[in-house]
Amino acid sequence: MYRIPFDRVNWITSSFLIGTALIALIGLPVYLFHYGIDWFQFAMFFFYLVATMMSITVGYHRLFSHLSFKAKTPVRLFTLVFGACAFENSCLDWASDHRRHHKHVDHEGDPYDISKGFMWAHIGWLMFKLNPEPPMDNVNDLRKDKLVMWQHEYVHWIGLVVGLIVPSVIGFFWNHFQGENPLVGALGGFLIAGVARIVVAQHCTFFINSLCHTVGRQPYSSSHSARDSAIMAVLTFGEGYHNYHHEFQHDYRNGVKPWQWDPSKWTIWTLSKLGLVEGLRRVPDGKILLAEMREAKLRAEKHLAELKSQGSAAQRVSEAVNEMVERLAANYHELEKAVSERVTLSQKALRDWQTETRTMMKDLRRMLAELPA
Ligand SMILES: [Zn+2]
Ligand SMILES: [Zn+2]
Repeated sequence: MYRIPFDRVNWITSSFLIGTALIALIGLPVYLFHYGIDWFQFAMFFFYLVATMMSITVGYHRLFSHLSFKAKTPVRLFTLVFGACAFENSCLDWASDHRRHHKHVDHEGDPYDISKGFMWAHIGWLMFKLNPEPPMDNVNDLRKDKLVMWQHEYVHWIGLVVGLIVPSVIGFFWNHFQGENPLVGALGGFLIAGVARIVVAQHCTFFINSLCHTVGRQPYSSSHSARDSAIMAVLTFGEGYHNYHHEFQHDYRNGVKPWQWDPSKWTIWTLSKLGLVEGLRRVPDGKILLAEMREAKLRAEKHLAELKSQGSAAQRVSEAVNEMVERLAANYHELEKAVSERVTLSQKALRDWQTETRTMMKDLRRMLAELPA
């Protein structure tokens, strides 16, 4: 039987995670049953959820952990204050863990290593202490940032005041001016925009470490567990294109295609037009396509080897896949040469290559599916 290592339990974090979940699951329905919810409480929940999630994805993640753009003080301050309201530790701690996640992904040293199981990657890693705690020697650049260090020092106070007390006070006065019981308004603000929003925001962020390493496709690389999924992108404010992100972590976009759902990327882009952020880092299109082609080629080669071992039954398919591999290899080398020689490629040429790669992958899946078992 699995035994809980009680000596390693992180009691404060565990109590917080379980306590807030219980309040959201039991306290909130009781409140809603008795008092219902008005549009104002709902709007405050929505504002707080968006502000918190964006502060984690745009601020903690893309700005501070990956330095994928530079931001002026108002953006840094906003994301640090509302990031604290997520109760996911200070930005300094978060970035240190996250940089180790990228460096050691799926291996010892990755704090939320998915190979240790779904629940470990989702929440277990927070509930148990590591012996010994890894050194925070990978965030020295952030230590020079006075705002980051200020937030590191007061993170729990900022979260408590801005994330829980402020919505309660706003709820109090809203009801007061409506001629309703102000204490009910305060309790509503605390439960809805406060606690329930924290629980939703936390699990949506934790999904990036659990589900985004479990469900979806791997168009850019299968050398790690990270996956691309449009559904996950909706739940995580754009972070669901995680396979791309692990391949090109310094790109400010996670959903790199213009149509991919990534509100964090749209926010960063809009802020750049307003002059609040600058230096947005983008991986050149040719290099992105090259990764996609390399992965397609590897996949086709792997299936070809399998088909060859199946003997005559798979002969015809095997020949078709062989042709495919040769074509993919030729395209890949041509593009690789162009990228390394820094030849400017037209959007049309890139699109044609991309379409051809995807069509071949579709054909491959179809042929394999049609193969007699
Ligand atoms: Zn990841
Ligand atoms: Zn990342």
